[in-house]
Amino acid sequence: MVLFNLETEQTRALYQKNPSFITHLECSMHGDLYEKGMPHGLSEAGKPLLVRYDLEKIKQSVTKHEIEKRAGGFWKYREFLPVQHPENVVSLGEVMTPLVPLKNSVPEGTEVIVKDEGRLPTGSFKARGLALAVAMAKELGQSHLAMPTNGNAGAALAAYASYAGLKTTVFCPDDTPETNVREIELQGAKVYKVNGLINDCGKIVLDGKDPIGWTDISTLKEPYRIEGKKTMGLELAEQYGWDVPDVIFYPTGGGTGLIGMWKAFAELEAIGWIGSKRPRMVAVQSTGCAPIVKAWEDGVEHAPLWQDAHTTAWGIRVPAAVGDFLILRAVRESKGFAIAVSDEQIFQARDKVAEKDGFLLCPEGAATFAAWQQALETGQVRKDERVLLFNCATGLKYPMPDIDRRIDCHQPIDYDLFK
Ligand SMILES: *Cc1c(COP(=O)(O)O)cnc(C)c1O
Repeated sequence: MVLFNLETEQTRALYQKNPSFITHLECSMHGDLYEKGMPHGLSEAGKPLLVRYDLEKIKQSVTKHEIEKRAGGFWKYREFLPVQHPENVVSLGEVMTPLVPLKNSVPEGTEVIVKDEGRLPTGSFKARGLALAVAMAKELGQSHLAMPTNGNAGAALAAYASYAGLKTTVFCPDDTPETNVREIELQGAKVYKVNGLINDCGKIVLDGKDPIGWTDISTLKEPYRIEGKKTMGLELAEQYGWDVPDVIFYPTGGGTGLIGMWKAFAELEAIGWIGSKRPRMVAVQSTGCAPIVKAWEDGVEHAPLWQDAHTTAWGIRVPAAVGDFLILRAVRESKGFAIAVSDEQIFQARDKVAEKDGFLLCPEGAATFAAWQQALETGQVRKDERVLLFNCATGLKYPMPDIDRRIDCHQPIDYDLFK
């Protein structure tokens, strides 16, 4: 019997030989240092903490070739991750997510590839971040985790935490897709619908820390989700033959993935596995909630709270991001840009790619396609640039149009209909 189980003899031996290479954590704004091996939230300045490693030791301990030979998904990059003990690794059967080139929905002569994150456990890339957050919570002895979510993060937290034997409480806006709300509850969490937005849910979690003693797993308020999302950058570099695409379009809510990939590329360059070339990083938002786009256009480092946020791309309906300055830095340093698309463009893109290429994107994934199309028209990207889009969740989780084409099988069938 072949089980998907990371606690094999081989993995245990690897972890014993190389416990994590984490050295410390660091405030992403001011650079002050924090000790590893103990629970942390935000830095003293209220900014996200970044995990630092002994990169020289990573370089001496593992080669690209060894990594390429390992099976499975993101846990195979274990030298680049903070978990010390193999028994804290929590895995639900991750895969390396495939790169699917679009064919009929893009003009000839363009290279547009979609990284399909919908293949991960719980059907979204939130699996990456939350697997790491849960593994580290377990390692640090935290037993009750709480979070605000627009859906997918809560689902991934619930699933990984239940597998790890930890308790979870989740708060989501009351218009979160029903599939998300129900999967969260079924996967072992207690889920509550809140008549507000994700930042209102976040406040409930924050204010509950003292009376309940739960750990706040909000985006970037614990340091390890970035490390999980970082694996998207590691995986991409490996899949591109230790190179990177020319442009990455990333659907940006809290921005964890964009920040994480940027960190991954820096770590890979530091150990000499990739060169200094970077993809241009493009933050994609919705015209109904575009704080990062506005801050990018205004040339400022922090994005003010976006009022009256609305979009049916729930994953990117984030009116305020704690890591705004990190997203904006990566976008600017990479000579990328930030761009907003309307819900109408998003759903047109979803329908087009599904119809022509048989690929059902989630709304946020469709937003990256719509943004690429728009950027091609305005000249922000060139036709010859190698483009990577993210399909961050399976399109099957989202409401789809009704079909009411009916056949009465007790009457003669009019075959002319099907010509
Ligand atoms: C969370 C989420 C996003 C945004 O990801 P961040 O890294 O937090 O910006 C986009 N799309 C979907 C489907 C999501 O679940």
